[in-house]
Amino acid sequence: MNELAYKFLLGALVVAMNIIRLYYQKRYKTSHAAKESEIAPRREKLLTQVMFIALAVPGMMWLFTPWLSFGQFALPDGIRLAGFAVGFYGMWWFYRIHRTLGDNWSPVLEIRKEHTLITGGPYKRVRHPMYSDMLLWLVSFALVTANWFYALTISTGLAILFTLRIPDEERLMTERFGEQYKAYMKRTKRLIPHIF
Ligand code: SAH
Repeated sequence: MNELAYKFLLGALVVAMNIIRLYYQKRYKTSHAAKESEIAPRREKLLTQVMFIALAVPGMMWLFTPWLSFGQFALPDGIRLAGFAVGFYGMWWFYRIHRTLGDNWSPVLEIRKEHTLITGGPYKRVRHPMYSDMLLWLVSFALVTANWFYALTISTGLAILFTLRIPDEERLMTERFGEQYKAYMKRTKRLIPHIF
């Protein structure tokens, strides 16, 4: 298949991701459920920048410039297309997870006024389905682009996000929801159902 076709496929996933994000970002900004407390705002800002540099910048380079061509490797069309299917599935979950969190969602770590603890739907087996979903994007984007360099930048970005944020997020949720969150932690995994 023509390389241009893969650019369209990655482009479609990126557009879907941004439509979902922008919609919920707009809701977040206009929501009455203002924040009750925010933690480590500077670290959170840094994480947003890390994700931009790890995901968006190389993605744009791959789509619109030849600069990342050194990272291409040979991959059969069937596998690259399967990568698109994984991404499509991942974007559908991305939407579902946002919808499930509703006004509890925020782009940075914080407790909203009238925050409720969600433990059902996508949150039934793992505590961080949105971060798990990003692992699906990693697999998908790596396969669709067939570019090891892009796979490496996304992996690095996610590793930084997970290590810096998950412990704090769980501490914050435990402070806010106490025993209820502790019990929830006991019956769930962090990212991968039944495994981790
Ligand atoms: N880590 C989660 C949520 C990411 S959005 C995931 O990967 O799906 C980040 C915000 O979600 C945080 O500010 C936190 O307050 C909130 N949050 C995390 N887990 C939650 C839960 N189970 N119920 C309600 N809000 C939650």
